[in-house]
Amino acid sequence: MSDLRELYQEVILDHGKNPRNFGPLPEANREAHGHNPLCGDKIALHVVLDGDLVQDVKFEGAGCAISMASASLMTTILKGKTEAEARALFEQFHDLLTSNEEASLDQLEALDKLAVFSGVRDYPLRVKCATLGWHTLNAALDETGETVVTE
Ligand code: ZN
Repeated sequence: MSDLRELYQEVILDHGKNPRNFGPLPEANREAHGHNPLCGDKIALHVVLDGDLVQDVKFEGAGCAISMASASLMTTILKGKTEAEARALFEQFHDLLTSNEEASLDQLEALDKLAVFSGVRDYPLRVKCATLGWHTLNAALDETGETVVTE
């Protein structure tokens, strides 16, 4: 398992340093802001929703490697997903980070690249970093117009 953990760590550091889909998205029709005061992470999420299909998604912001990597990986996985699939994925991801039980192989497979965050469950404070992007996504889909604060 330690090799796997190392690989996971590398993916997180890579996405944290070089976030994918980072920048403005002028044609976005859904937007939300998220703030994690415990760590200082801030993100703005831009989504192009076509019917119930996520056509494009980009984000901007600053924060720790975990928050940036999580938002980055989230954007790479969301394109082409329906709104319902995106919300279901967040629930699975949230379970992975908060459950006391070791994740099953099926669970990890369903989460695809997001499985790299499975080690975060050992650091409860970092769970808020890893889920900030996703909470912000829900706010964008719900069109709440409010900044998500993870507390
Ligand atoms: Zn953080």
